[in-house]
Amino acid sequence: MSDSSDETTCPNCLDDEMHRENEDGWYTSVECIECGFYSTVETGQMSREDIDEARESRDLEPLADDHVIEPIGEGLKIGR
Ligand SMILES: [Zn+2]
Repeated sequence: MSDSSDETTCPNCLDDEMHRENEDGWYTSVECIECGFYSTVETGQMSREDIDEARESRDLEPLADDHVIEPIGEGLKIGR
């Protein structure tokens, strides 16, 4: 098994020919060329309220009032 492989096993037909799209080191989609199974990733950005909620669930303080949220780059927007 190699981490650099761009093929993985399809969870539907168990064929080894499922291809992964690799972008910037993470997989954005997979597609099986045997049965047609596919899966894609959708990305987006949480609102400040959502971030604070996520931080609270990790026992962290909310973002500081002067904290500037970095807008996500165009290349990271997937699925919409
Ligand atoms: Zn398949």
